Amino acid sequence: MIYLDNASTTKIFESVNKKIFELNNEFFYNPSALYKPATDTAKILESAREELAKNMCTTAEHIIFTSGATEANNMAIFGFATGKKDAEYIFSTGEHPSVFNVAETLKMQNKIVRYTDISNNGIVDEEKFKNLINQNTHFVSIIHVSNETGAINDIKKLCQIAHQKNPNIIFHADGTQAFGKIYVDVKDLDVDCYTISAHKFHGPKGVGALYVKNPDKIKAIMFGGGQQKGKRSGTENVSGYVGMAMASTIAVKNIQSNYAQILALKDYIKQEITHNCTDFKFNDAKNNSPYILSVSFKGLRGEVLLHQLEEQGVLVGVGSACSSKKQNNRVLENMGVSKDYLLGSVRISFSCQNTPSEIKIATQSLIEQYKILKEKMSK
Ligand code: PMP
Repeated sequence: MIYLDNASTTKIFESVNKKIFELNNEFFYNPSALYKPATDTAKILESAREELAKNMCTTAEHIIFTSGATEANNMAIFGFATGKKDAEYIFSTGEHPSVFNVAETLKMQNKIVRYTDISNNGIVDEEKFKNLINQNTHFVSIIHVSNETGAINDIKKLCQIAHQKNPNIIFHADGTQAFGKIYVDVKDLDVDCYTISAHKFHGPKGVGALYVKNPDKIKAIMFGGGQQKGKRSGTENVSGYVGMAMASTIAVKNIQSNYAQILALKDYIKQEITHNCTDFKFNDAKNNSPYILSVSFKGLRGEVLLHQLEEQGVLVGVGSACSSKKQNNRVLENMGVSKDYLLGSVRISFSCQNTPSEIKIATQSLIEQYKILKEKMSK
């Protein structure tokens, strides 16, 4: 199988998997217990927090471990939500469901929610965003790298725009598709909180983190034994968090070479599609992550192409795996992709584990299957 759905999840690094297995045998203790093996386990947990924090250019006290990006996004939004009636919340129309559906929930709770548009390249329109900010704006959440298209938002600039108009705004960025792939320095971005997820950079599933600039200010959204300074109760997944920290170190260390390698793979597929196909569009921005290629073929069905490719041993996606059962693609639609192209969209997403030879085979399959479908359509 040639796996090209890495935006959905990645294969765990073998060394990380091995480490998790070892820890589950040797340090299975509850890190909150009082005997030595447990306090040793707690030390391992805290050094994982330090390691991860360093890779995000921050320090351990700013990291809250979670069960993944969905929880981290919910934690950021609900944890900073306010009872003030006139408080306004801004989200982009390009958000992942784990932010978008929280925004819709806030609306149902009678909070004032505003959506800021993305342009036809998938990037937040900065002028429109600026115009939405006012003295009542309380919270902003913008995706760093789009899980649908790979479009990269200029989070540093958007955060500056927000804070220049209103310094009290809590600015959150969902960095799930960014961290470990493009350079992320949370201090330099100057965000108030930032979400990451381990399984997107070859760590374990069900493990993530939220960076919080002022951890004293965030309210807990889960209550229980008071772990993680009361900010996130529940016995910590020690081996999982160590696995995430370890995967983050590998990812950050190789970030530049991986970027160059993957850019070459993406450019190759784009070139081949351009030479061999007609009536298609790349849903790309100028500033786009090389890890994601979204392409829409006019008149084709993305799911049909996906299954034909699967028969050839090539796995691609049709968009966010969490919402792929739904027919429409909200983000591409918000970018203004017309219906005849929309349904023919596939998402090809790469990882450092992809090789040029498998990309060559996958590209050949894609073009062959495209031609077969086109031929069927013309009859
Ligand atoms: N945000 C983005 C941008 C994502 O791509 C994903 C995963 N598809 C999530 C959030 C949710 O991540 P998790 O699976 O860790 O909950």
